[in-house]
Amino acid sequence: MKEDCIFCKIVKGDIPAFKVYEDEQVLAFLDITQGTRGHTLLVPKKHVENTYGLTEEDAAALFKRVPKIARGIKEAFDPIGLNIINNNDEPLQSVFHVHIHLIPRYPSDGMVLTTLDRQDEYGKEDYEAVRKAIKEQLD
Ligand code: 5GP
Ligand code: ZN
Repeated sequence: MKEDCIFCKIVKGDIPAFKVYEDEQVLAFLDITQGTRGHTLLVPKKHVENTYGLTEEDAAALFKRVPKIARGIKEAFDPIGLNIINNNDEPLQSVFHVHIHLIPRYPSDGMVLTTLDRQDEYGKEDYEAVRKAIKEQLD
């Protein structure tokens, strides 16, 4: 529990939220913005700032709940698809208690979430340099 953290306050019940799922380790509740109908946040009850700070046990407890919430949203609203997003660090992240967005998608919902295809800018050596840079940090 971090005193000035809005999601810790929601976990504790100090401020209200529309809860959709709760167990000993996690809480899922509606994102206040409802960017699309059913936009839900899944958070660990333990305060951790973002994904970089999660232990493997923390991550397992959090991420293992994703399919259950995803299926619930799918069954409830029959979306055409579902985006799962986790923002880390400013300026992407605005609440510094790790959370996973589950965002059901509907025809013409106005959401713009897409990756770009830059294959034509990458040769074999570029892929190799990128691969090496990441792998070096993991060995
Ligand atoms: P981020 O930008 O950090 O990935 O997302 C934070 C999310 O938390 C935003 O989508 C925002 O709407 C949501 N949020 C911020 N404050 C509250 C709150 O008090 N209640 C709820 N339910 N959602 C909140
Ligand atoms: Zn917190």
